[in-house]
Amino acid sequence: MSSTRYEVRGAVAVITLANPPVNGISYALRCGVVAGVDQASADPAIKAIVLIGSDRAFSGGADIGEFGSPKAYAEPNLPTLIRILETSAKPVIAAISGVCMGGGFELTLGCHFRLARPDAKIALPEVKLGLIPGAGGTQRGPRILGVETALNLMVKGDPVPASSFKDSPLIDEYVAAETDLLDAALAFAERVVAEKRPLRRVSEMKADYPDHEAFLQFARNMIKGVAGPFPAPLKCVDAVTAALTLPFEQGIKLERDLFVGLMGTPECRALRHAFSAERAASKMPDVPADTPTRTIASVGVIGAGTMGGGISMNFLNAGIPVTMLEMQQEALDRGMATIRKNYENSMKKGKLSQEKLDQRMGLLKGTLSYDDFKDADLIIEAVFEEIGVKEAVFKQLDKIAKPGAILASNTSTLDVNAIAEFTQRPQDVVGMHFFSPANVMRLLEVVRGAKTAKDVMATVMQVAKKIRKTAVVSGVCDGFIGNRMIEHYGRVAGFLLEEGATPAQVDRALEKWGMAMGPFRMGDLAGNDIGWAIRKRRYVEKPHIRYARFADRLCEQGRFGQKTGKGWYLYQPGNRKAIPDPEVDVQLVAYRKELGITPRKISDSEIVQRCVYALVNEGARILEEGIAARASDIDMIYLTGYGFPLFRGGPMLFADEVGLYNVARSMQAFAASSGDSFWEPAPLIAQRVAEGKSLT
Ligand code: NAD
Repeated sequence: MSSTRYEVRGAVAVITLANPPVNGISYALRCGVVAGVDQASADPAIKAIVLIGSDRAFSGGADIGEFGSPKAYAEPNLPTLIRILETSAKPVIAAISGVCMGGGFELTLGCHFRLARPDAKIALPEVKLGLIPGAGGTQRGPRILGVETALNLMVKGDPVPASSFKDSPLIDEYVAAETDLLDAALAFAERVVAEKRPLRRVSEMKADYPDHEAFLQFARNMIKGVAGPFPAPLKCVDAVTAALTLPFEQGIKLERDLFVGLMGTPECRALRHAFSAERAASKMPDVPADTPTRTIASVGVIGAGTMGGGISMNFLNAGIPVTMLEMQQEALDRGMATIRKNYENSMKKGKLSQEKLDQRMGLLKGTLSYDDFKDADLIIEAVFEEIGVKEAVFKQLDKIAKPGAILASNTSTLDVNAIAEFTQRPQDVVGMHFFSPANVMRLLEVVRGAKTAKDVMATVMQVAKKIRKTAVVSGVCDGFIGNRMIEHYGRVAGFLLEEGATPAQVDRALEKWGMAMGPFRMGDLAGNDIGWAIRKRRYVEKPHIRYARFADRLCEQGRFGQKTGKGWYLYQPGNRKAIPDPEVDVQLVAYRKELGITPRKISDSEIVQRCVYALVNEGARILEEGIAARASDIDMIYLTGYGFPLFRGGPMLFADEVGLYNVARSMQAFAASSGDSFWEPAPLIAQRVAEGKSLT
């Protein structure tokens, strides 16, 4: 199917971009536009050319389907196409509606005139993939938009309405919604021809800024502060400097060099990996995209505790009514009040209007009776983490839920297959593992039971999108993907304490490396009693797994973390700041003595390697067992649910960046020094090393 259409309207050639959904600039589309321009140029009856997209999109930029393939760069590449448009002897007019981003926007800068809907969404989002605009945007942008506006657009990467460019010469004419965009463009083209308007080539304009050196220095300082570890934002300033100080052609060359340089950075690879990982995660190899889904118009939530409340808020925010069930009126009232309080806090911060608050609370109903779940399309259980309690709940649900209702458990560790078998309809049972706070955290692990129906999976993935979660599918195993890996990370952190590190040192090393929070601060936040309860069960079932007992010792003293004012750290009332506790260090010294361990100095790099490689090794096992469908799913879980640094792309990509061979060697060294069989590299790692392949 052709990606462009060519038609003649009077003396104007209309080239329509037609590569749904967003007119990605594919090889075929580029060829189509060039062919259109050639045809129009050769036809003496044609006096002007209009380039137009769909209502939804002029163009969203590069075609994602061609990312990384030779087709993405094949001639005519985008810079060539833009040059062909710009050097056309006949006027070229872009008619912009909907999304106009990245390469799509750069394409319009090659045109001589631009018309736009005021609400068209303009963006140069390359920085979000660790890049700068690479098809002349950094050189043409400052020339037509002004230096400051262009730099802002590039550095932020966010879409802005076309109407915000009213003060620049970018848009020659705004076309209101009542007027047909093509008709307006044709009329405009006729005027350009009749008035013999000179063609305005942006590359021939001059970028100007009074005292630009001072401005650029100021911009550099500002951007350095917010760019963190990402190099692209500062490169935008370099490119804009070139637009101000160098001839156009030299500026373009510099843009190319900067672009290619950024492409080779680990930060850029991490961002591109995360971008593709998010898209890949929503796909299940054996559940086709056109699988029919069930309608979810009302939701039931069981348990109004920490998780039940947060889970409910997700649906209320999306306009879906929720009925929340508790055993006792008092617990129900508390749960309802917490939700209201959360919304009131948002209102105080100016993030929510009274009207929205009322609307959302109006969608929420509390109940003590399962009868109120009769019509629910989706029921999510968030009761105590005990299999007996879950059994009672699911047996009850089986009795009252309507046929076809989806029954979900928010369990963190229990066997979803066993839970499914408490019902006569295991095909309708699925795990929906939210993360705390459930109304804030982006991640949702969707746990697919052995019997979960495909349409249930498709529905839950669709619902996840509606409530703005990043959903990743996990198979059934203890802890699913995220918590199964974190257990080993925590276990290794415990050994580091035995060997000589302090909790503060371990946390500091990992936080300096980029983790949002070290393992001990995280434990104090989540509640050390939760991990303790899991260890009590897990290490009875798996006595062969060694772990450092010091954590249990702290729990025996009631040091559960922030909620008890004491954990690995000390906390002042009402303050979340972790204060290192000398008492913990004293107890650690005594504990090591009991074990006969002579403490040694442990470097930050050893701390990081051991903790992060523990994630990698368990992740690889999860991948080879098929619990995760792809390495990038694991990375998505860590980026969105565990505070793993985005610039490192997730544990699996990080291992590839270090080199899997090197990672495996370090693991073998840890195995030899600790005698812990966990450190034998997962067979998948050994296999990929032997084949010279990576994990991602
Ligand atoms: P919680 O103790 O805060 O809340 C549980 C609520 O369920 C309580 O209000 C309790 O009264 C209610 N409840 C218990 N049995 C019930 C029953 N039979 N019928 C109706 N209500 C009942 O616990 P939580 O932290 O919200 O955890 C709930 C579930 O979510 C657990 O399975 C837990 O493993 C899982 N989870 C917790 C977290 C977390 O960080 N807290 C994260 C992910 C998943």
